[in-house]
Amino acid sequence: MQKSFDLATTANRYREVLQRIEHAATAVQRIPNTIALLAVSKTKPAEAIAALYAAGQRDFGENYVQEGIDKIHELEELTDITWHFIGALQSNKTKDVATHFDWVHSIDRVKIVNRLNEQRPKHLPPLQCLVQVNIDYEPTKAGVQLSELGEIAEQIDKASHLTLRGIMAIPNPDVSEQEKHNSFQRLENVMQELKAKYPSVDTLSLGMSNDLEAAIAHGSTMVRIGTALFGKR
Ligand SMILES: *Cc1c(COP(=O)(O)O)cnc(C)c1O
Repeated sequence: MQKSFDLATTANRYREVLQRIEHAATAVQRIPNTIALLAVSKTKPAEAIAALYAAGQRDFGENYVQEGIDKIHELEELTDITWHFIGALQSNKTKDVATHFDWVHSIDRVKIVNRLNEQRPKHLPPLQCLVQVNIDYEPTKAGVQLSELGEIAEQIDKASHLTLRGIMAIPNPDVSEQEKHNSFQRLENVMQELKAKYPSVDTLSLGMSNDLEAAIAHGSTMVRIGTALFGKR
């Protein structure tokens, strides 16, 4: 196994990321512990997850269904991990996601909503759902347009085995500072509207290793961090 997953290195990176979150929050008069840290472990081995778990982390995000399930099985004795699916979701994989994960961040079609609701095992709590919003109108990127958000949110809210928790976005990093600011601002506004309509909505999944400070300044309640915790992929 790679040396970079030794406990000391992992614990140091974990502390640094928690400090960045704390600084970013206090800089905008927010309470640091209202911002959750999701550790994105795609392409990293189960050993890396176990090392971060030992440091205290409990929420982990995976992008690829089979890779995620393999790690969930490898780590099944760590029963208090919360597993988030954050990758592109094809309809032939919805059953696996509904069966093995606790959260899904990447819902962008009503068809996926219906399948997840039908396939969520009845003995499990409702699947916690975020709608992925394509905030920069990027033609090749996943996510709904803002004009489509209302309908899909309503479908999730009506589904008895799903809980609507909010929205997720991946703003385009390759635009001007002004455009970035505008995207974050649009998300903050949309989040406020959704929250006013649905009491279960409390989560804006926004911010990665490079932009967590800006995300927190615009109301993110969950930052998704890979590189800064696990090193380069
Ligand atoms: C990979 C990934 C991340 C983590 O990105 P880093 O830049 O490594 O922090 C966050 N969100 C999604 C959806 C990802 O695919």
